[in-house]
Amino acid sequence: MAAITGRLFNIQRDSTEDGPGIRTTVFLKGCVMHCPWCHNPEGIRSNPELVWYKARCIGAGDCMKVCPQHALKLTADGMLVDRTLCDACGKCVEACPATALEVLGRLYTVDEVVGTVVRDRLFYEKSGGGMTVSGGEASVQAAFCLALMQAVSKEGIHVAIETCAGSSWETLRPLVESANLILLDLKQMDEVKHREYTGVTLERVLANARRVAESGREIWVRTPIIPGYTDSESNVRSVARFILEHLPTTTRYDLLAFNNLASAKYDRIGQSWQLSGESMITANTMDTLSEVARSEGVENVHWSGLTKP
Ligand code: SF4
Ligand code: SF4
Repeated sequence: MAAITGRLFNIQRDSTEDGPGIRTTVFLKGCVMHCPWCHNPEGIRSNPELVWYKARCIGAGDCMKVCPQHALKLTADGMLVDRTLCDACGKCVEACPATALEVLGRLYTVDEVVGTVVRDRLFYEKSGGGMTVSGGEASVQAAFCLALMQAVSKEGIHVAIETCAGSSWETLRPLVESANLILLDLKQMDEVKHREYTGVTLERVLANARRVAESGREIWVRTPIIPGYTDSESNVRSVARFILEHLPTTTRYDLLAFNNLASAKYDRIGQSWQLSGESMITANTMDTLSEVARSEGVENVHWSGLTKP
């Protein structure tokens, strides 16, 4: 039988933001949502994508000569990639003498990823860490995700999955049951706004969240604090109330401060980002929102991320 493969856009070792301890975070391509604030835009589409690093480009032009699709054009404004023509074949990547091009989203076997994850076993043991599967939305590649989680668990390594809970429960259930910890994103608690921002109903997300708790798995809830989208006190209060009423296995609530550092990622995949000029949140706002959650009775509330003074 052919080995199951998954399309990844990154494997990040030494991660300290995706669960307890030191972790290796595996980023799978493809998402069921399209949040305007997404910090991993290269993870939203399922297909591989060509990225161009402006700072590395020396203008040699070798890429354009080898492209069979004639999809590249180096202009004064930078490299234009005609993405209706580019099939991510990678020929330009090989031809570039300055490593200014990369195809994100190569296929990996489970064994390949496990081989990387186990390298840091000692760090996991010393720090209480492990592997986190993220994305995109990990459940979009459910068969690969499940096989990877089971293989890493067999190695005796702690396994977490980060999910926006926007897939069907049928898809999510086996992944939840194979994880030690679920990092559950609850972004916006207004049904109309949630559907408008993410493309998925809040009803589905909350139903899945309840089922995750019913499975008995430990949950860390996470809310990205995005100016104008999710940063109101009433939104954080609603998340806090939902945690208290429906997610008794929650052991931690994280508020994640928006920053605009993802602008460069949008540039690299040839997309403009409506939040690129948005200013950062203040530490005061993050303190206040954390206090709102605590005042509702949620324990172990943390906030993280870059803030402006
Ligand atoms: S990845 Fe292939 S098709 Fe796309 S620009 Fe490069 S050479 Fe052309
Ligand atoms: S759910 Fe996460 S990965 Fe998907 S679009 Fe939203 S922020 Fe991005």
